[in-house]
Amino acid sequence: MFNKSIFTKQQLKFMLLNLIAFSVIFTIFSIIIFGQVQRTLYSHADEELLLFKERLTNNMFDNEAAGFRPQLGNEGQNKVFPPKDKKENPNPRITVIHWGYGGKIVNKDEIGTLFYENYLQDYQLDKTKIDEITTTTINDLYDFRYILFKDTNNQDDIAYTQLLINVDAEQTIISNFERLVIICSIIFTILSISASFILSKKMMKPIIQSWNKQAEFVENASHELRTPLTIIQNKLELLLTSPNERIADKFENIALSLSETRRLSKLTSDLLTLARADSSETELTLQTVDVDAFVRKVCAPYQEIAESQEKHFWLNLKCPINIKVDETRFHQLLVILLDNALKYTSESDSIGVKTYVDDHKAVIEVTDTGIGIKEKNLPYIFDRFYREDKARSRETGGVGLGLSIAQWIVEKHKGSIKAVKNKNKGTTFIIKLQK
Ligand code: ADP
Repeated sequence: MFNKSIFTKQQLKFMLLNLIAFSVIFTIFSIIIFGQVQRTLYSHADEELLLFKERLTNNMFDNEAAGFRPQLGNEGQNKVFPPKDKKENPNPRITVIHWGYGGKIVNKDEIGTLFYENYLQDYQLDKTKIDEITTTTINDLYDFRYILFKDTNNQDDIAYTQLLINVDAEQTIISNFERLVIICSIIFTILSISASFILSKKMMKPIIQSWNKQAEFVENASHELRTPLTIIQNKLELLLTSPNERIADKFENIALSLSETRRLSKLTSDLLTLARADSSETELTLQTVDVDAFVRKVCAPYQEIAESQEKHFWLNLKCPINIKVDETRFHQLLVILLDNALKYTSESDSIGVKTYVDDHKAVIEVTDTGIGIKEKNLPYIFDRFYREDKARSRETGGVGLGLSIAQWIVEKHKGSIKAVKNKNKGTTFIIKLQK
């Protein structure tokens, strides 16, 4: 029924779109979390560096205790700050490097020979980032956060001071987290491929269903249109073969052509109604209607027709309330059900219309003792072009669109319609409409 390759392509497109959407969301999420973790982990080390720098530039450390270069006070004497608490002492994790004007480390002794020779011998001064906390790796192994700033004291041979703090522990956590994110990404990719596949399949389902429905509708409609057209064409061609004959002699052919034309006209108007219903083009014009009075008025001509066909027609109207409906559509709904009741009943059968109020809703029942509908076919009778007995339906002029239109009208009024098999004989259609 449907073009498989088009749907497969479309499904693939949906799948790709879902996958891209999932991946973008996950990537943004990972970047935010990763950045946040990194920032949080480094923030403590960075704080320490800034505090250390501030104290160093304000001569707040005990030079002796810290083993730093002598800071000259106003009077050219060493300024000593006695430690008040832990914060007053230099952080033992921080290494201070003084760079001379020639780009060499000038405080090798203060740093410690062992540390200098093992780690800083080949370390070069990088002046690209001044006063900015940056990460660096020494000996390709040890990670440090550092800050480099210009020395403001012109009286010594120090050009720059660099504060380094080891962040190996933080880096290990970040590396582990990085690994975790990569593992999660792989798992997420596998999961999102499966999820995208399932979602795209789910998205395609209603599209395929409505495509099939539409294709079926067009096929049925063309079939229904072709039959009367062929009959009319044949009859007219037959009339052309004997142009001298009188109309009275060809009465049957003309009458049949006319009845098929009427059939065509009803069919096209039904098709138009449903096409407009599908495109939600038709809007209701709601008016307040007295249920019983309206039903009585619509039923009047049917009562006469039924009696002329020797069928019993009864009314039991007990719904003295007003409801808001589109009068034209409400009339059309009752006509469809009454037409069917007449079509599918025989002589001495009875047709009845009953109204009452149930749960603040107006209920209208159209019942008959006609041929009835088989229990197994009840779920399909509201489907477009569905006819239980195609031959009989055609005889009575039906194409199987009446109940589809009836259902659309009721649903448009936010009501409900159902068909039930009568205990003895025939069918009852029950409509419930809100006030
Ligand atoms: P149609 O124009 O063929 O009557 P409908 O959509 O009105 O189309 O009805 C669909 C089918 O439901 C009919 O072909 C018929 O088989 C069945 N049906 C509808 N109303 C009745 C009824 N009152 N009694 C028995 N069968 C009915």
